[in-house]
Amino acid sequence: MTVVTRFAPSPTGLLHVGNVRTALHNWMWARKHGGRFLLRIDDTDLERSKEEYVAGIRADLAWLGLDIDGEERQSARFALYEAEFEKLKAAGRVYACYETPEELDIRRKILLSRGLPPVYERKGADAPIPEGVAPHWRFRLDHDAVIEWTDMVRGAQNFEPKTMSDPVVRRADGSWLYLLPSVIDDIAMGITHVVRGEDHVSNTAAQIQMFESLGATPPAFAHEALLVGTEGKLSKRLGSLGMESLRDQGIEPIALVALLARLGTSDPVEPVTSAEPLVASIDFARFGRAPARFDEAELALLNQKILHHTDYGAVADRLPAAIDAGRWNAIRPNLMTLAEAAEWVSVFDGPFAAPAPDAADLAVLDAAAAAMPGVDWTADPWHALTAEVKAATGAKGRALFLPLRRALTGRDHGPDMGELLPLIDRDQAIVRLAAR
Ligand code: GLU
Repeated sequence: MTVVTRFAPSPTGLLHVGNVRTALHNWMWARKHGGRFLLRIDDTDLERSKEEYVAGIRADLAWLGLDIDGEERQSARFALYEAEFEKLKAAGRVYACYETPEELDIRRKILLSRGLPPVYERKGADAPIPEGVAPHWRFRLDHDAVIEWTDMVRGAQNFEPKTMSDPVVRRADGSWLYLLPSVIDDIAMGITHVVRGEDHVSNTAAQIQMFESLGATPPAFAHEALLVGTEGKLSKRLGSLGMESLRDQGIEPIALVALLARLGTSDPVEPVTSAEPLVASIDFARFGRAPARFDEAELALLNQKILHHTDYGAVADRLPAAIDAGRWNAIRPNLMTLAEAAEWVSVFDGPFAAPAPDAADLAVLDAAAAAMPGVDWTADPWHALTAEVKAATGAKGRALFLPLRRALTGRDHGPDMGELLPLIDRDQAIVRLAAR
């Protein structure tokens, strides 16, 4: 069996971390099994769906490295839905209803006031058909078949159809609700695994009967616990945190992938530089039932850790030309974001405004300036320079190193000077040490 998964966003907005996580897990599952990962644009809501969001979704998936093996869109498939709907109608599995929302609301309230579950009573089928009213359509659940499946995350699930309302699948204006087209598509596209949020669990119960009513075996399901913010709630911030804002903050796509792949699972979040080990290890049995907490600070830290052992080759095309492999290796332990690499170009090659030295540091700097002509730049110049200055001034430790670091780099902290100094332009170093 070839594994086929799909990510099915509605293009009514841009992707946020929550739905990116769902996309990622579908992609990982397909890749782990050498299968196919499809993008299905759920644009049955023609009014709210926008082309710019479709383009944004594609671009975000590409940025994250979630390559797709095919794309479909629901708005191009209405003829198929119509045909399948006719079959269900002929078989009596969908039926026309004429209640208004107000009538349904009153019935619900009456049932609740009697202490009964507010389940749709199928009265519509027998009631006289009001004149000039177009029906909406419900799927008739089979009350005699208990709905059961083994969820890859949640384990054994079972639903009693008698306790469920027959779901509305089509509105009076002919437009489709999400449930039925999704099932028709999952069958047509040969989807083997549906991975989505646990907010869909009760939809799954109804959809399992839809699969069966259309003569298909339901796919396997994995319903993952929801993603929440640090405060433990589905925060507004989380629901709108898009890829553009993360990109602007300097978050690498692999950092987001590394975090979302493991968050809420019993596997540790690791600073990987490629998705490969994550793909190899995905296992829905290791996904927890508790909400997964997404913390932007954790993401920033992971981003930093990943940069610290990212190879030059992986980022060369995004670095200033002046940052070669040696310079990258020297500065990467000090970067929070890749963009910060640009700030080091002037440290290596100038232009450079040397900070005015403290009076107390002048002796060290004078000795360094005097030593420079004799320092061989090709063989450990930092060691040679500091040895000379130490011999001349008696300075050692911080009193020796800090004035030199400041004068040479303009900073109090940074990469190991032994590694950094030979990468700094020699003439620049001479000027910096002599600047007063
Ligand atoms: N368009 C649906 C959603 O975004 C798809 C759900 C599913 O994966 O079946 O909620």
